[in-house]
Amino acid sequence: MRSIAIINQKGGVGKTTTAVNLSAALAQRGHRVCLMDLDPQAHASLHLGLTLADGEPSVYDLLTGDASVADVRRQIDENLFVAPAHLDLAAAEMELAGEVGREIILRDKLAADHEPFDFLILDCPPSLGLLTLNALTAVEEVFLPLQPHFLALHGLSKLLRTVQLVARRLNKSLRLTGVVFCMYESGTRLAAEVSTDVSEFFAGGSEPGCVWADAVNFQTRIRRNIRLAEAPSYGQSIFQYSPHSNGAEDYNNLALEVLGESLPELESAAAKLAAPLTI
Ligand code: ADP
Ligand code: MG
Repeated sequence: MRSIAIINQKGGVGKTTTAVNLSAALAQRGHRVCLMDLDPQAHASLHLGLTLADGEPSVYDLLTGDASVADVRRQIDENLFVAPAHLDLAAAEMELAGEVGREIILRDKLAADHEPFDFLILDCPPSLGLLTLNALTAVEEVFLPLQPHFLALHGLSKLLRTVQLVARRLNKSLRLTGVVFCMYESGTRLAAEVSTDVSEFFAGGSEPGCVWADAVNFQTRIRRNIRLAEAPSYGQSIFQYSPHSNGAEDYNNLALEVLGESLPELESAAAKLAAPLTI
């Protein structure tokens, strides 16, 4: 199983949109996916139409109580399962403040779960607090969504330091494996410049053993697409809400890259190059 935490301590960069639609794209391609909502705002749960009634088990009960992953997880579509959050998750951080081993509660709960999945995807809150730490100790991969504006790299060193520290002290398997641009305005100079800066940052200067040494800058840019912003209000993934939109195409391509498969456009470009020239 690949386990991936979608992390950026900034809000509004596309974490939830990516967690939900990447999960849906992978599930649609026949992979069994469990999406876990670690944000008290519960946006990923709401995006997929899950509103919890009082007393229904959520990630809060997983982290603070006796609930198991199986108690919390529910199937919402073929191959797609969600462990939903609720506003009360905001209290978990305070409640667990004095607890020994509070950073590895999620890891232990997941280790006790034997349901087979191909992907576990964690949607994280916009902070580097205890909930994000629980995600970082529980997964092997971090994906970093970035919005290409001039502050994209601001705060990145703190995030990378946190991931590096967790990798050193708590989770030897942790690596930052992917950077994905969200809300990309194709054709603007700013977006192109920021993505070049980011590529250079991740390509250069990382010593071996550094957690982002093998990070991939995904070639798929998630373009700004109003359908992606509308889909959550209908409780649907982009594939249910608008399957022919740019948003659906981009998240489908991202899923192909995550799976290590080649992208349709690149295939056709390569085919054109390989084809003999006819005059
Ligand atoms: P985060 O989880 O990092 O806070 P979200 O995924 O919730 O970010 O995105 C912030 C807002 O931007 C949401 O309203 C979302 O619907 C919208 N959004 C995200 N990605 C796109 C996109 N590619 N095009 C248009 N709107 C987007
Ligand atoms: Mg979010």
